[in-house]
Amino acid sequence: MEISGKNVIITGGGRGIGKQFAVDLKAYGAKPYVVDVVQENLDALKNETGIPGSILDVTNEADVVAFFETYTAENGAPDVLVNNAGITADGLFIKQKGDELATFPLSKWQKVIDVNLTGVFLCGREAAAQMTKHGVRGLIINISSVSREGNFGQTNYSATKAGVAAMTVTWAKELARAGIRAAAIAPGYIRTEMTDKIDQKMKDKIVAQIPAGRMGEMKEISQTVRFIIECDYVNGRVLEIDGGLRI
Ligand code: NDP
Repeated sequence: MEISGKNVIITGGGRGIGKQFAVDLKAYGAKPYVVDVVQENLDALKNETGIPGSILDVTNEADVVAFFETYTAENGAPDVLVNNAGITADGLFIKQKGDELATFPLSKWQKVIDVNLTGVFLCGREAAAQMTKHGVRGLIINISSVSREGNFGQTNYSATKAGVAAMTVTWAKELARAGIRAAAIAPGYIRTEMTDKIDQKMKDKIVAQIPAGRMGEMKEISQTVRFIIECDYVNGRVLEIDGGLRI
């Protein structure tokens, strides 16, 4: 798909990796539109780059349905959805301290399931519905993670990112008849505000496990988004962009 002039919706694009996608896609000539939960970040994005956006909590079904209807009425159906919004709420499954045994709280499990799994499901469903309704041979890019293979302290997050990978394959199979592709990216450790906060000793430990010898840059994940959009033969696959972390 030619990027230029395409309608691209990015969830969770008010900051972090999603913001990078929006900025780069605009530079490539696309028409990015960002949804997020923090108005300040949307305002800053608009002021800095001119990229429009609006508040949308991807976990709220009624709001997601209404957003995709309104967006399509105003702009035409999306050509591309980047399902990027995601959160972490880490903790050990079982934690024993002396005589005390703490278990991973259901509330923390549910919170991450709601955003990372249900949010991706709802936005993917509504984007696919609008694409199909309007005959747009579009693309859904889901952001998974190398944690989908299972990662210490991330029972909830890993489960959601594995689910995201499975939904990607399912959608590629089901939506092919409408000419819609689905693909995913599984980033490794990427340098963001979040990973910048990890203390240096821990960072050194992490980097020591990465054959590339460094964390990834947001730009490198954005380049992958560009590749998936442009290369029509990428379908139903999860591209691991991790500097070799999982090899
Ligand atoms: P950030 O936390 O920087 O950005 C995520 C954005 O999503 C934030 O703006 C956040 O808002 C927003 N968001 C949270 N909940 C919702 C919601 N319910 N509805 C809409 N938007 C919401 O994360 P990253 O940029 O680091 O990560 C982006 C994606 O990449 C995620 O899916 C993450 O799991 C994945 N990933 C990241 C890696 C990394 O190393 N950073 C590695 C592998 C995968 P708020 O400002 O309130 O937090």
